[in-house]
Amino acid sequence: MPELPEVESVRGTLAPHVVGRRCSAVTLRRPDFVEGPRSAADLLAGATLVEIRRHGKQLALIGDAGRVLVVQLGMTGRLVWRSAADRDSGPTPHEHVRWRFEGGGTVAFIDPRRFGGLTPLPAADALRDRWGALGPDALGIGPPALARGLHGSWRAVKAALLDQRVLAGVGNIYADEALFQAGIHPSRQAGSLRHEEITRLAAAIRSVLRRAVRAGGSTVRDYVNADGAAGEFSRSHAVYGRGGAPCRRCGETLTVLRLAQRATVACPVCQPENPMIHSFVHTGRSRRAASVGRPR
Ligand SMILES: [Zn+2]
Repeated sequence: MPELPEVESVRGTLAPHVVGRRCSAVTLRRPDFVEGPRSAADLLAGATLVEIRRHGKQLALIGDAGRVLVVQLGMTGRLVWRSAADRDSGPTPHEHVRWRFEGGGTVAFIDPRRFGGLTPLPAADALRDRWGALGPDALGIGPPALARGLHGSWRAVKAALLDQRVLAGVGNIYADEALFQAGIHPSRQAGSLRHEEITRLAAAIRSVLRRAVRAGGSTVRDYVNADGAAGEFSRSHAVYGRGGAPCRRCGETLTVLRLAQRATVACPVCQPENPMIHSFVHTGRSRRAASVGRPR
C-alpha cells in the first residue's frame, strides 16, 4: 500500500506535467470509483489545474474556480502520465479514469484492487474539513503534536502510529522503520512513552520519511510513480520485510509479531520490550561476563 513517501513521489512526478494546464475531457469507466457527484465538471473537465496537494496518503487536484478532486490510491492505485508522444494503445487493464489535457497528454488512474477512489469536493473549505479530521502530516511531525496523539493511549505504539487520526501518512513499512530507528518496541503502550522517547520517535519518523521521499518511495507490490519509475528505498529497509534476518545494527535475529492485524518486525535487542527490565538484565549480564573473565 502506498504510504506518504510513495504518494509524495506521485505528486512530485505528476505536478510538472499537469499543473498550469487545462483538462479538456475526462473518461470515467467505473462510476462506482467516484464517491459523490460524478459529472465531467466534478472530475475537473474544463478546469485548469493550479496545484496538487498532499496530506498523509491523500492527494487533492486543485482546479481553478475552486474545484477540488481528492485522490486516494488505496492499495494498488497508480496515476500514470502519458505524453502526447506516447503511443495511445487505448485503456490499459484496470484503468478506471482518464484525464486528457489540452495540447496533448493524459493521466490514467489504474487500480487493479479498487481500494482507491476519487471524491469531488465543492470547495477548498471542504478539503480543509476533510483533512482536518486527520492527524498532522507525518513528514513534519514534531514532538508536541506526536505527544498529543499518543497521550493516554493504551494501544500499542505501532497501532497508534497507523491510526490516520493520530498521524497522517504512516503505514506498516514506515511505522516499523521509524520504531526501529528510535529504538522503541512496537508493542510498547503508546501512552507510556517518555518525553525523550517521543522526541526520538518524532525525529525518526521525519528522517525515515524524508529519506524515503528522496529515494522515490519503496517498491512493494506494483507501486510506480507518475512516470512509471519504481521506488529505490526498499533496499534501505532496516526491518520491514526482514523478519528472521540478522539486525543490521546488532546482528540479533529480527522477530516477527502481529500488531493491529499487521506483520510487525522488530529487533529484540535494539528495541527492548521493557526498557527498565532490559537495562537491568544487561547490567546483570555484563557483571556476570566481567566476573567470568576475571583472572584467577
Ligand atoms: Zn538490533
